[in-house]
Amino acid sequence: MAKQIQAIRGMNDILPEQSRRWQYIEQVVRSIVASYGYEEIRMPVVEQTDLFKRSIGEVTDIVEKEMYTFEDRNGDSLTLRPEGTASCVRAGNEHGLLYNQQQRLWYMGPMFRHERPQKGRYRQFHQVGVEVFGLNGPDIDAELIIMTARLWKQLGLSEYLTLELNSLASNEARADYRDALTAYLTEHEAVLDEDSKRRLQSNPLRVLDSKNPAMSDMLSQAPKLSEYWDDESRSHFAALCQRLDALGIRYVHNERLVRGLDYYNRTVFEWVTDSLGAQGTVCAGGRYDGLVEQLGGKATPAVGFAMGLERLVLMLEQLDAVTLPQAVDLYVSAMGEAAELPAVNVAERLRDQFPTLRVMQHCGGGNFKKQLKRADKSGARLALIMGEDEVARDVVSVKFLREDKPQQEMSWEQIVATVNELV
Ligand code: ATP
Ligand code: MG
Repeated sequence: MAKQIQAIRGMNDILPEQSRRWQYIEQVVRSIVASYGYEEIRMPVVEQTDLFKRSIGEVTDIVEKEMYTFEDRNGDSLTLRPEGTASCVRAGNEHGLLYNQQQRLWYMGPMFRHERPQKGRYRQFHQVGVEVFGLNGPDIDAELIIMTARLWKQLGLSEYLTLELNSLASNEARADYRDALTAYLTEHEAVLDEDSKRRLQSNPLRVLDSKNPAMSDMLSQAPKLSEYWDDESRSHFAALCQRLDALGIRYVHNERLVRGLDYYNRTVFEWVTDSLGAQGTVCAGGRYDGLVEQLGGKATPAVGFAMGLERLVLMLEQLDAVTLPQAVDLYVSAMGEAAELPAVNVAERLRDQFPTLRVMQHCGGGNFKKQLKRADKSGARLALIMGEDEVARDVVSVKFLREDKPQQEMSWEQIVATVNELV
């Protein structure tokens, strides 16, 4: 036998049993973003490498060690997108969607990062991203958070998710804080692990992100970012909190929430769960008012978030929170050649009459027992069976597969009435 080729580590097939759960989440997401008036944008999965270097930042985990970067046949450096925000801004600038306009956009698709695969962490994973351009107030920050809260509610996940909130303030305020933090961390260099020592030079705020228990005491004593907030950022944050309070959305102010990408300022937030082990962040976002200009556009305020679909799928699976519908409602069988075309006709008429009804036609012949076994396996609630005798009398035998009811011969009108009760 020929050797089988395997999928690439960390890049998963999504099999039918799982894809039902995916489709369910995707459909809920689509309906919710639409209910807030957001429009879909679709970007390519490959971009010029510089796009990510310039936006995410040279000294971030993503750019330093996680990108799938390669040379194409022309010798250009390309990268499989590790996230969507940079591409979205690039597309917005390129097509003139941003300057002096308001845009509320969303997208969904695969992202690529070369990380160590583990539960909730993969090399190809999927995000839903939402990005808003042209609005700088706390009202829109609140809207994004309200929208995600509605999503959790619809998915039955509200009680398992906590909202963490912080403000990275203005670039100037953050720079002052950075100096103070660097001084403090340098004083305590003896307690820093290797990773943090490196970050102390390149990106000291990221040290706050460390989960290393040996550093937690020292970090809890570190200067607080909120002590350096500028007035505008302070009132922005207060107004956001006020809105969330008014709507009953609970949050925790996490002073150490700094996010791993360079482009954020002011509001940052994460929805976290403790039901997924170490990979607890399901959704993360914030404001990135400088990015549009940094990527060559005119200064445009912006805010957005991205959520990881694998982690949501895992949560739904683990919590068994939703009952997923079967793929088939009704199975149509034919006994004997003469009944085959009439059976196809009945199935087609049913699809005409009930566009949302899922009708599976038996193919491949076989005796009654075999066909019924297939019907049962399909998950259908009804089996419609036609033999020469039924065809001659213009009726169909209907078997109830999930109810204790006798098989029944029905006219077309009776079938329609019966199916009407199903759909
Ligand atoms: P983490 O701290 O878990 O590495 P991150 O800060 O790198 O996350 P973002 O870049 O903000 O994540 O991406 C937003 C969301 O996308 C994450 O909260 C997570 O749900 C999901 N995500 C990020 N990386 C992965 C991955 N490798 N596999 C699966 N989901 C991911
Ligand atoms: Mg990461």
